Amino acid sequence: MPPVRVLPNWIGGVETPARATGTLPVLDPATAETIAQVPLSGPEDVAAAVVAARAAFAGWSSTPVGERARAVRRFRELLARDRDAIARSIVREHGKTLDDAQGSLRRGVESVEFAEGAPALLPGSTMANVSRGVDAELFSEPLGVVAGITPFNFPAMVPLWMFPTAVVLGNTFVLKPSERVPLTADHLVRLVHEAGFPPGVVNLVHGAKEAVNAILTAPGIDAVAFVGSAPVARHVYATAAAAGKRVLALAGAKNHLVVAPDADLDATVDSIVSSAFGSAGERCLAGSVVVAVEPVADALVAQLAARVRSLRVGPGDAPGTDVGPVVRAEHRDRVMSYIRVGEEEGATVAARGTIPDRSPGFYVPPTLFDRVHPTMRIAREEIFGPVLAVVRVGSLDEAIAVANASEFGNSASIYTRSGGTARMFRERIQAGMVGVNIGVPAPPAALPFVGWKGSSYGALAATGAEAVRFFSRTKVVTARWPSDPPGAGGTSPMH
Ligand code: NAD
Repeated sequence: MPPVRVLPNWIGGVETPARATGTLPVLDPATAETIAQVPLSGPEDVAAAVVAARAAFAGWSSTPVGERARAVRRFRELLARDRDAIARSIVREHGKTLDDAQGSLRRGVESVEFAEGAPALLPGSTMANVSRGVDAELFSEPLGVVAGITPFNFPAMVPLWMFPTAVVLGNTFVLKPSERVPLTADHLVRLVHEAGFPPGVVNLVHGAKEAVNAILTAPGIDAVAFVGSAPVARHVYATAAAAGKRVLALAGAKNHLVVAPDADLDATVDSIVSSAFGSAGERCLAGSVVVAVEPVADALVAQLAARVRSLRVGPGDAPGTDVGPVVRAEHRDRVMSYIRVGEEEGATVAARGTIPDRSPGFYVPPTLFDRVHPTMRIAREEIFGPVLAVVRVGSLDEAIAVANASEFGNSASIYTRSGGTARMFRERIQAGMVGVNIGVPAPPAALPFVGWKGSSYGALAATGAEAVRFFSRTKVVTARWPSDPPGAGGTSPMH
């Protein structure tokens, strides 16, 4: 067995061993094998990255915007060259299927394409003559050094939401990826440097809680973008805001899929299965509670149960796998404990899938619960695994009330053939991303990825024009110039 390498940080354009000595194993969730060691960087490592990012800021922010956009384009071309290797790296360290990995990388690349064009969103505006002889002009400028802290479930896509847009606007960046999926982040940052970004424009600091806490209070960091679980999002939001930083913190979810009696059942079942069990349920847009409006429930549950039993669970890179392992043994145990809680609370197990025999991988049998009461924990708490709860209700009003009672408001979907029902749902549902006959209503990169209620903290969303606003600040110049400047009226060659 070759020795397992310890990943480097990337500081000022060079691979830099972390000063902190602790490491964590990076595991392949399908085999439980250790594939690398990730350093648990501390405050000194974060400080070194901030120094490098600060040093790069003056030159990078004054680099013409077209040049910055061309660097982003070269980076995108390298992503295209390496797309198979990156997708395989996602499968290897996350566990999701190759299809899911490729799909998520494509979504990430869309954000890079958006970033290339983002400078088009920058032009300011002018109000002439706001007072006699006075004009007001609005400029957009970068913030400075910004940090991105990302979750395990989208090893490429979430970092790609952040740093291409941040840097094309003239900021410099410190990325702290999830310690569970650091290999893909390492690949992305290698490509950043191959693309010719100046040293220090994008820095990478590996680590966990300690590295995050150092970022939240580091004096040289102007803004923090975070995506992860709800308790950590609240901590990040409060701590970084108290340290005077601009913060955006996207959090957890519990997404409801409402099935109206007039829904096209076959298409609805396909959509629900893919929403709830794709990426083994480890998606913040995963459908987690089906709200079945009677009399649809018996037929719906029968079809869903048949599909859940037939899902093939296995390694993400094996052909034909529908559901891969979850990310870690502790997470598998947590999801299994929710399945036990569901049974203890009195919900009915309508279907339980099978997992590979005697595999050391972190597999969870896909599980469908029926007759779940909305107050049960499996209906309220984020499980983040291949577990789907069906709540039966008597009316659309009741369905919307069940969904709106959630502490979260990331996404919600309605399945119906009626435009009127869909419209009413759109008006009344308290969620930022709404699907109509779509189970994973992920917005395109140019639009905001926007959670409501406990799914997001901060005024802006993570992608699109809202990300451009988050990563830049405006300056208003109000100017009065002498109305009769020296030399006016004759000295100019134009006269
Ligand atoms: P997580 O909160 O455990 O980790 C996210 C980041 O925070 C990681 O970089 C991690 O190192 C760091 N972290 C973890 N614990 C910390 C602590 N105590 N103090 C400081 N930092 C800490 O989240 P995860 O398990 O990696 O990701 C899954 C979660 O992310 C789910 O809740 C999911 O809903 C959410 N998510 C949300 C969105 C969204 O757009 N709203 C998108 C993707 C994932």
